[in-house]
Amino acid sequence: MDQSLFDTQSRQPAVLARSANLAEGYSATIAEPVRPDVPTAKFGDPDITATGERRASVSLKTLRTLWFNTGTLCNLTCKNCYIESSPRNDRLVFLSRAEASRFLAEATRLDPPPAEIGITGGEPFMNPDILGILEDSLAAGFAVLTLTNAMKPMQRLKAPLLALNRKFPGRLTLRVSLDHYESSEHERLRGRNTWQRTIDGLLWLARNGFVVAVASRTVCGETDARMRAGYAALFDRLGVSIDTADPTRLVLFPEMRAEEDVPEITERCWGILGKTPDSVMCASSRMVVKRKGADRPAVVACTLLPYDGAFELGASLAEAARPVKLNHRYCARFCVLGGASCSG
Ligand code: SF4
Ligand code: SF4
Repeated sequence: MDQSLFDTQSRQPAVLARSANLAEGYSATIAEPVRPDVPTAKFGDPDITATGERRASVSLKTLRTLWFNTGTLCNLTCKNCYIESSPRNDRLVFLSRAEASRFLAEATRLDPPPAEIGITGGEPFMNPDILGILEDSLAAGFAVLTLTNAMKPMQRLKAPLLALNRKFPGRLTLRVSLDHYESSEHERLRGRNTWQRTIDGLLWLARNGFVVAVASRTVCGETDARMRAGYAALFDRLGVSIDTADPTRLVLFPEMRAEEDVPEITERCWGILGKTPDSVMCASSRMVVKRKGADRPAVVACTLLPYDGAFELGASLAEAARPVKLNHRYCARFCVLGGASCSG
């Protein structure tokens, strides 16, 4: 998988700055706390912020994307991987085909059922059950979006992937992570000798009729337009047909600086910021994870918070349909203020 856990649309830095300032300014106007006995630390109480306001929450509007985290093991150790994947990180263990199929069965009974199944990791193609999970998801009638670095773990499965794509034409999208349109910047983040292997995988997918998308980070302070122009030139050189103006085919994610201080999100922030709760990922997504040592998978609120037990919502999709309290700095930084809207 990738950093790329938000599906589309990132905002420009100026918008982010304006939003953050609004939230800070709004907080400063609150005269009386809702409760006098509020905790002083941010993100300490699930219901009340440090300034005594009611914390924002998000209801599940409709489950549009059901994500399966196939495990945190990865063949790479990229800088700033939000889930800290590596060849050694097995905090989330491999999800089995049988475990995934139970959630697929529940998903097909929903009205409406999810529009797509998202597959993320780690690197999903390191999971020994990945082909079965893909096949079951496609056979159940879902569109499937799989995030991958397109390197050796994927490339060793070329023959079965071709067979799957023939059996379910147009329904399997592979989104390849390429962190920049220049090899040097990509390898600065992903490590030496990662560029050409990913390019080889991307070319193989494109030349063999897969639906292909690319995800990139915007780590260099480059504008959206410059990034898209850089990728357009690269794809021209490679002979790859990807519409770089389409934000679902070339997905640019905002830089993830998780350590930054952020304001907490209150109920009234929605109005101040001109946003709605429906615009953030947990209004339309859930993710199935399996923690190391757990006897069964769990459903968490979103792809961004796989480790935080406070965002574990239940053992089934039905249990996990309850509202999510935005009691994490990622909620503010990446979703409400960061502009990383996640509906695909
Ligand atoms: S490819 Fe890199 S960013 Fe993606 S999961 Fe592996 S280590 Fe993380
Ligand atoms: S980080 Fe918070 S606001 Fe964003 S999708 Fe996850 S739970 Fe929702």
